Amino acid sequence: MKKRVGIIGGGAAGLFSACLLKKFSGNEDIDVTILEKNSVLGKKLMLTGHGRCNITNRKNASELKNGYHEAGNFLYPALKEFGPDDVISFFEKELGLRLKEEDNNRIFPVCDSAVAVRDTIASYISDRTKILCDSNVLDIKKTSGFEVSTSQGNYSFDYIILACGGKSFPKTGSTGDSYRFAERFGHSVIPVSAALASVKSDPVSAVMTGRLSGVSLTANAAVYCNEKKKASVCGEMMFADFGLTGPAIMELSREIPPDITDMSIWIELDLIPSMSDEQFDLEFQELIRDHPDSKIATLLSGYVPASVAHEICSASGVSDLYAQSFTKENRKKTVKEIKHLKIGLDRAPSLETAYVTRGGVSLKEIDRKTFCSKLVPGLYIIGEAVDIDGVSGGYNLQACMSEAYLATLDILGMS
Ligand SMILES: Cc1cc2nc3c(=O)[nH]c(=O)nc-3n(C[C@H](O)[C@H](O)[C@H](O)COP(=O)(O)OP(=O)(O)OC[C@H]3O[C@@H](n4cnc5c(N)ncnc54)[C@H](O)[C@@H]3O)c2cc1C
Repeated sequence: MKKRVGIIGGGAAGLFSACLLKKFSGNEDIDVTILEKNSVLGKKLMLTGHGRCNITNRKNASELKNGYHEAGNFLYPALKEFGPDDVISFFEKELGLRLKEEDNNRIFPVCDSAVAVRDTIASYISDRTKILCDSNVLDIKKTSGFEVSTSQGNYSFDYIILACGGKSFPKTGSTGDSYRFAERFGHSVIPVSAALASVKSDPVSAVMTGRLSGVSLTANAAVYCNEKKKASVCGEMMFADFGLTGPAIMELSREIPPDITDMSIWIELDLIPSMSDEQFDLEFQELIRDHPDSKIATLLSGYVPASVAHEICSASGVSDLYAQSFTKENRKKTVKEIKHLKIGLDRAPSLETAYVTRGGVSLKEIDRKTFCSKLVPGLYIIGEAVDIDGVSGGYNLQACMSEAYLATLDILGMS
């Protein structure tokens, strides 16, 4: 009997599923349909990697899994079965899209175009997949198979791949419908919040971050909630008009609770993370002693960009001071500002602009060897819909592909 597979959502996870179903079904007669509510496929995919699409990250599975926080172990079998090398080989050999490696093992297409990635995939699947855009799925019911009603009509399938995304960047179509459908099937959904998002500072801190807008540096950023340090990330960050952004801040954002009302919360920046407070203080004392005629801001410019040094001096009340008139109290205050710069937060990071969703369909109810629901046979849940989020660098698209692979093999009876 012909297998009828309905893929709900024509984003990254849905498109990869269609690709792999075509590749591995061989001569088997299967009927694959993508139901996508937008008028085009892969709206989010076309924005990835600043329009260049960071497809994956070339690391082995045991290293790669560390990029998926609490879900790393759950995802490990999928990463082992279909990891970055398999993805690279699939893109180059099967899709004919040449790839290149950049810093930190990040893999991009040679053409630097996420639109080309989407187009190549769409063209590859076109002969074996019915692509129905402008088809908003309204409901999915379990019968002997599945009955799906959409804004364009009703369809019957034997298998469903639920791939309608999370709740981040909703203007691309991912508005949380996956959760609604999964809950209707009895699945639990871990509350969602923003991950890989920029952070908006409170109006007081925004004056300073605004003056430094565009300046980037390496810092250790730590989030404090009610006086307690919750998490920290060391890496590249950038000041912005609205607050803070850049890889380290975006990675830290998932640790900020979704509701910060009535909470004392701030991000503390150590702008010289290569030295402890004591090491820096000692070195700073020597500098002050050896360069009495230098301005303090000039001495600090040896450690951080000049504009940052000026802001630190201004926050410490030592803007115009020369080293010779710098007191111990001045030094203590300056060391505190540069090693523990407090940026107050206005509100939690927003899902509207977050790259990824934290939370989603609970992993407890999904078989990690197939990504099939443990509650509903024939229902596969993959992509950002599930409670997995990765760091930046190609991890999130890799997760979509590894999960799509396991679901595909199971549907084809090959797992
Ligand atoms: C700006 C940006 C840049 C990014 N860059 C990278 C990167 O370079 N590398 C990386 O690994 N990750 C990146 N990510 C993350 C990555 O894009 C996502 O993790 C990935 O797209 C998730 O795929 P998905 O298929 O699960 O969801 P989506 O890509 O969101 O696709 C879900 C699809 O389902 C459709 N849909 C939703 N509800 C329904 C419904 N009821 N009926 C029919 N269709 C429906 C939506 O319209 C959408 O097309 C980036 C994200 C953003 C926002």
